[in-house]
Amino acid sequence: MKENRYRAFLIKYAEIGLKGKNRCFFEDCLVRQIRNNLRGLGEYQVTKEQGRVFVECPEDFDYEDTAAALQTVFGVASFSPVVIIDTTEWEALCRAVGNYVEEFFPEKNFTFKVECKRGNKEYFMTSPEICAEIGSYLLKRFPELRVDVHHPDRYLTVEVRNRAYVYSEVVPGPGGMPVGSNGRAMLLLSGGIDSPVAGYMISKRGVYLDAVYFHAPPYTSERAKQKVVDLARIISAYTGPIRLHVVNFTEIQMYIYETCPHEELTIIMRRYMMRIAETIAKESDCLALVTGESIGQVASQTMQSLQATNAVCTLPVFRPLIGFDKQEIVEISEKIRTYETSILPYEDCCTIFVAKHPVTKPVVRIIEKSEKLLAEKIDEMVRTALETREKIEVSFYEE
Ligand code: ATP
Ligand code: MG
Repeated sequence: MKENRYRAFLIKYAEIGLKGKNRCFFEDCLVRQIRNNLRGLGEYQVTKEQGRVFVECPEDFDYEDTAAALQTVFGVASFSPVVIIDTTEWEALCRAVGNYVEEFFPEKNFTFKVECKRGNKEYFMTSPEICAEIGSYLLKRFPELRVDVHHPDRYLTVEVRNRAYVYSEVVPGPGGMPVGSNGRAMLLLSGGIDSPVAGYMISKRGVYLDAVYFHAPPYTSERAKQKVVDLARIISAYTGPIRLHVVNFTEIQMYIYETCPHEELTIIMRRYMMRIAETIAKESDCLALVTGESIGQVASQTMQSLQATNAVCTLPVFRPLIGFDKQEIVEISEKIRTYETSILPYEDCCTIFVAKHPVTKPVVRIIEKSEKLLAEKIDEMVRTALETREKIEVSFYEE
């Protein structure tokens, strides 16, 4: 448990650093997301400096809350609680690093290694010199300490920039790219385990999300819908605000059920979901659709079924879980805290009208023929479903 003697965090980012001329844009996205996710916790100062972002905390900040908020910012490779030393004057610097050890490690019975990063290349000593000199200063001041350059109990990292920074802990962040750095996609969000994880993974590459949920009242309940809103809210901690489109799918489902061969129900229904989702996606400037499908998980996710549902889309369909086993997906859903909500036992529209023996190898040509049977009313029904959709703005952190 950290105490508030740390008043700042040093944030490292990984991939953004590779972005050449666009680097500034990525850094600005990262700073914006950090500010946004911390806003509700108090007055933080977030600044960027030479490949680092610094977060200076208000006096009464809570370490756990701050760390939890940083864990939801994609683009953060790691963060370190850091002590800022307002001078780089040599003797003052050594003293300050000594004070840091004094204060944070009352038990001096450990081995250490000093590491140095010199952002200020004009500084009068090189990094190895700084490490060696600070090391010997510490040994003199705390004779119980010992140096171990191979397997130290603690690393003490000193960064010398316009100011100096000292830290000894590196907490892994979520990684990825800051949201807002890579366009927008439309997630087909059901109440299950998979689709929230799929949304999380695409957003991790810097993509903003909107979502669409197909609701089938009275067969699916208000509670089932609320569950989807709750899931959207949980992932919006990472993805930023989500506009959730709730489409009433009952009439379309019933019509397919009454008109088409029952073994093709699920596939035809899923093709209409994709068509409707794509229409909303295009209206919302989304560049792709996202689903939680994984090869072979259920009848509607065989290679043939995926091909049949894919065939109605012109936007790319991203399926980040395509090669994942269920257990691997469950582990991510536990990590991002959607699991507990996902397993609440409310009905889903896909499970109400299921055939006893759904086709597992649908042939697109045959499915298209069956869909012709819907010609009389389906366009009107799709239009109505689009027009009557409900839009819910979901946001974990207030914008
Ligand atoms: P999930 O756990 O995400 O519900 P699933 O294993 O239940 O997935 P399916 O029911 O076949 O799989 O759905 C596959 C994908 O289709 C889902 O991951 C989701 O992206 C989308 N989907 C399914 N049902 C709905 C729905 N009612 N509203 C929106 N999208 C849906
Ligand atoms: Mg499902």
